Amino acid sequence: MTIVNSITSLVGNTPLVRLNHVTDGIDATIAVKVEYFNPGGSSKDRIAARIIDAAERSGQLKPGGVIVEPTSGNTGVGLALVAQQRGYRTIFVVPDKVSEDKRSVLRAYGAEVVVTPTDVEPDDPRSYYAVSDRLAREIPGAFKPNQYSNPNGPESHYRTTGPEIWEGTDRKITHFVAGIGTGGTISGTGRFLKDASANQVTVIGSDPEGSIYSNPDNVHQYKIEGVGEDFYPEAYDPTVVDSIVQVNDAEAFEMTRRLAAEEGLLVGGSSGMAVVSALKYARMHKLGKDALMVVLLPDSGRSYLGKIFNDQWMIDNGFGDIVARTAQPSL
Ligand code: PMP
Repeated sequence: MTIVNSITSLVGNTPLVRLNHVTDGIDATIAVKVEYFNPGGSSKDRIAARIIDAAERSGQLKPGGVIVEPTSGNTGVGLALVAQQRGYRTIFVVPDKVSEDKRSVLRAYGAEVVVTPTDVEPDDPRSYYAVSDRLAREIPGAFKPNQYSNPNGPESHYRTTGPEIWEGTDRKITHFVAGIGTGGTISGTGRFLKDASANQVTVIGSDPEGSIYSNPDNVHQYKIEGVGEDFYPEAYDPTVVDSIVQVNDAEAFEMTRRLAAEEGLLVGGSSGMAVVSALKYARMHKLGKDALMVVLLPDSGRSYLGKIFNDQWMIDNGFGDIVARTAQPSL
């Protein structure tokens, strides 16, 4: 019998796939962990169940309770999946740069979505942090998971993502690469891989140009979604990260399109970004055949069909040259 009890039983155990075509001139083996195989379509499914379990145990979430969270979409999907199974209402606050597709997905899972402006300071009352704080205060029975500071985020990666990669590479992984948003993925997974390997695994963060992690003196807007920050979240443990490789929007989006066209991997912009960091690092350090790099790809390209995979959007946003370079030959 292979029937599982509910869709939430299928979180984790995502595949590792070797990259064969975008790795020209690199001797190291580069494999990607494809997180869109999770039932909600992203790595964030992993943190949702652990966060809700912990809140039920501590009494922060009671029957009939409401989950309120600022989320760029993926955490919302994960939380909504678990919440609908257990009868909780969900309200998600998202910045307006988050695609209309992602908002529709949240609503489809039964969540309510509140949209806030991206271009304001974190302490502005209109910011998505401030709005979610206010809703969590005002709504009776509200619980705010706060993925930015909730230790169950990194913990879920320590307990699932890390061991899956360690065993999935026959304990041969030498380098791990992941984008940094809340920092939960890289901190939890990286910590596990360092513990398991007696600090032999090198952990490399991937960060968009404009984010605080790679350059605190030049924080500005960028278009890659779900990664980078303008403050240091508690979920991020900088002591786990050996090196951070910065990537700009154009580099990330070009690689995102190439991953779909050449590797058959329809993934999101933060995935393209992480692969660019991996390739830059492998080239910079001249990694040889004995190196085995694993790059985590957080979500699916289906959430970005109207953006990265839409030629007109790319042209309108100054990425016309990428469209020309990645165009299919016409008949
Ligand atoms: N990529 C995408 C698309 C995401 O939604 C997130 C989560 N914000 C990340 C990467 C980064 O993961 P983490 O928050 O664990 O650092």
